[in-house]
Amino acid sequence: MAMTTENEKHTVDVFGATEEELCALMGALGQPPFRGRQLFEWLHKKGVWDLERMTNLPRDLHQKLGALNPPARIGTVLRSADGTRKLEVLLGDDTAVETVLIPEGDKLTQCISSQVGCAVRCAFCRSGHDGLRRNLTAGEIVAQVTLARAYHEAPEKLRNIVFMGIGEPLHNTKNVLAALDILTHPRGLNLSKRRVTISTAGVVRGIDALAEAARGDVALAVSLHAADPATRARLVPGLKDTPEEIAAALKRYPLPQRRRFTIEYVLIDGVNDSEQDARLLVRLLSHLRVKINLLTLNPHDKTDLAPPSQERVLAFQKILTDKGLTAILRRRRGADINAACGQLLGTGRHKPLR
Ligand code: SAH
Repeated sequence: MAMTTENEKHTVDVFGATEEELCALMGALGQPPFRGRQLFEWLHKKGVWDLERMTNLPRDLHQKLGALNPPARIGTVLRSADGTRKLEVLLGDDTAVETVLIPEGDKLTQCISSQVGCAVRCAFCRSGHDGLRRNLTAGEIVAQVTLARAYHEAPEKLRNIVFMGIGEPLHNTKNVLAALDILTHPRGLNLSKRRVTISTAGVVRGIDALAEAARGDVALAVSLHAADPATRARLVPGLKDTPEEIAAALKRYPLPQRRRFTIEYVLIDGVNDSEQDARLLVRLLSHLRVKINLLTLNPHDKTDLAPPSQERVLAFQKILTDKGLTAILRRRRGADINAACGQLLGTGRHKPLR
C-alpha cells in the first residue's frame, strides 16, 4: 500500500519498502528511525501485517500509520496429485496472479509472478496470451512469499524462489530487485541470493542491468527456445533481442566462480526440435558456462503447438550431451491443476480487497 506522510514528502509502499526507506518514513512521522527496523522485522521476518499485533510499536504510531491494508490475499488453492499446490493471489485492484509451491524431495520451491499478464507473448505460453495489464509492486511480489509461508504447514522448507510465474521479471527490474533485497535481507526472511532464480525470456538490457546492480550472485535463467533468429522471433515475438545478442550479454555477465547459467528450452514438435536446431544450440552455447533445462511444451487451450515424442526429446538431448553440454530433462509438475510452466493465469475477476 502507498503511505503518504503528513508533510506529503514521502509516498512509501510500506510492504515493498526497504528497511532504510521505512526508517526514513518513521523519521518523517516524527518517530525515532529504529522504529522502521522494527516494522520491517514484523512485516518480513515474522510475517505479521496487523499493527495491533506489533507489540513493540507505540500506540500513537498506529494512528499515524493508519490501518496497513494488505497488498494481497490468497484466493483459491488447488492441489495436484504430485503434491504441487497453486495459490491464487488476489490483488487490491481487482486483478490476480498465481504462485506455485513445488515439493522436491523434502524441500519446497516457490514459483512467483512478477507482472499481471506479460508483454512478451511467447507463442506457447498461456500467461502472456492476453498481453500485459501491469507490473506488480515490490510489496505484491514479496507478499506472495509471505502469504505462502503463512499458509504452508512447514514454511521452513520454503527456501528456493524462482521468478518463473506470470510475467517477464526483467520488464519490471526495479521492483523485482527491491523485492529480492527484502527477501534476502538478514532482518527479513534472510533467504540466500543463490537460491533465488530470476528467469528471463532474454531481455538483454535487463541482464546488463542485473550485472550493473551488482546482484550477480542471484541465479539467472534464460528462456532461449531457439538458437536461430527466425525461430526465436516466431516463438518470442515480443522481444527483439537475438540469440547472438543474448549469448553476448551472458558472456560479459560477471558470473560468480563455479556457477552456471540455466538455459531453458521448451521443445515443440516440428518447430525447434530438429537435429539442426540442436547443433545450432551447441554452437551458440559451447563457449558459455551453462546447464540446459529441456522442457516439453505443456499444452493449453490457446495453442495448437504440441510437445515432441519422447524419442525426439532424447535424440535432441543426446546431441547436446555428446558435445559435452549438461542437458537435463525437466519433469512437468502440477499439470493437472494448470500449474505447470506456461499455464498460469492472471485475471481480473475478483472483488477488490478491503
Ligand atoms: N518470462 C520469464 C519467466 C516466466 S516463464 C521467462 O520467460 O523465463 C517460465 C518458463 O516456463 C519459461 O522458460 C517459459 O518459456 C516456460 N513456458 C512457458 N509456457 C510454457 C509451456 N506451454 N510449456 C512449457 N514451458 C513453458
